[in-house]
Amino acid sequence: MEMDALSLSYEEWKTFVTDVLKEPRFRADQICGWVYAKKVFEASGMTNLSKSLRDKLTSESFIKTPIQVGEKKSKDGTRKFLWQMDDACRVESVLMNHGSHTTACVSSQAGCPLACTFCATGQAGYARNLTTSEILGQFLTMERRMGRDINNIVFMGMGEPLLNEENVLKSIRALSNEKMRNLGARHITISTSGIAPGIRDLADFEVPLRLSVSLHAPNDALRSRLMPINKRYPLSALVEAMKYYKNRTCERITIEYVMIDGVNDDPQLAFEMAALLDGLDVYVNIIPYNPPLAISQGAPVYARSSDAKIKEFCAALGGLSIEFEIRRERGADIAAACGQLAAMGRSSFIGSAHY
Ligand code: SAH
Ligand code: SF4
Repeated sequence: MEMDALSLSYEEWKTFVTDVLKEPRFRADQICGWVYAKKVFEASGMTNLSKSLRDKLTSESFIKTPIQVGEKKSKDGTRKFLWQMDDACRVESVLMNHGSHTTACVSSQAGCPLACTFCATGQAGYARNLTTSEILGQFLTMERRMGRDINNIVFMGMGEPLLNEENVLKSIRALSNEKMRNLGARHITISTSGIAPGIRDLADFEVPLRLSVSLHAPNDALRSRLMPINKRYPLSALVEAMKYYKNRTCERITIEYVMIDGVNDDPQLAFEMAALLDGLDVYVNIIPYNPPLAISQGAPVYARSSDAKIKEFCAALGGLSIEFEIRRERGADIAAACGQLAAMGRSSFIGSAHY
C-alpha cells in the first residue's frame, strides 16, 4: 500500500527510505527538505534525486493535502481557508498577519464534541479527529499558497487538540524537527478547554510549546454552565494539572477569558480568578465575545461585554498584579475570529458567492 507521506515522523521517514525505497538514510533529509522547507509535494519536482528514486517515491508514497474549497479575506488582512477532506468533512484555518509575522490557526478536529455554549464550533457538532497529515496539510498548504513561511502555529481552530493528542503531537514533532519544518518551539501554541491529563502529557512532552488554557470562569458552577467539560475535569483538577505543567516546564501559562455580557464579566470574578490561580504566575488574554453568525436552536444567546465593563474587569486584574492583554479581534467580518469557525458541511461557504 502506498505510504501517506505526511503521516511520517522523521524516524519513520528514515525507515521508509531504507526499507521500502532501498536508499541510504540521508535521502530522508533530502526528501523532507523538499516537502517541509520547499513545499514541493510531487516527487517529480525533487530535482536533486535520481530519476529512479523519484519514480520509486511516486509509486510507493503519496502526499495528499486538504483540497481548498474556499477562501475569504478580511478587511484587516486575515484570511480564512475552507478545506475539504477525503470523506467530504470540512474544516477551516485562519491566517493572521502581525506586521511582518504571520500566524496560522489550524483545526485539530472536524467540529468539536465539547459543546461549549458560547462557541460556534461546539454548537455545530462533531464529526471526527483530523489525521496527522490533515493537520500538517492545513499548515503546509497555506505556506505553499502564500509563497512564504508562516512564523507561528496555534491550535485554536476547530476542535479540542488534547482530545486528538496523538495526531496533534505527531504533527508538532514534524513541525519542530530541524530536518523537517524546523519551526521554533516558542512558535507553537496549544489552546485547551482544560483536558487535565492532556496538560500533564504536554508538561512531559519533549518539544517545548506554549500553552493556553481557556478558563472563562473562576468557579465550577459558572464554568460548568459555559463549558460542559468542566464537569469531567473540574477546576481543582485543572489547576493541579496547570501547577504540574508550570513546575515541569517553568513556562508561563496563558489564560483565555472570553468576556460575555452579564455572564462572567463581574469584576468580583477577577478576584476569584486571582485566588484560584494564586502562585501560577499566569498571563491573561481577555477576549471580547464574538457572536457566531448563526445561533443553533436552543443555544443561549450571549452578547459581548461593553468596553466599560471590560475595562472595569481589567482594572481589577491589574490591581491584583495579574498581567493581561485585551486580544484584538481579527477577521470578525469573515467569521474568522475566535469561536466563529463552524464549517462542517453546512458551512457558511456553501452556496455563498462571497469569495
Ligand atoms: N478547543 C480549544 C481550542 C479552540 S477554541 C479551546 O477551547 O481552547 C480557541 C479559543 O476561542 C478558546 O479560548 C475558546 O474558548 C475561544 N472562543 C470560543 N468561542 C468564542 C467566542 N464566541 N468568542 C470569543 N472566543 C471564543
Ligand atoms: Fe470545543 Fe474549544 Fe469551542 Fe469549547 S471553545 S466547543 S472546546 S472548540
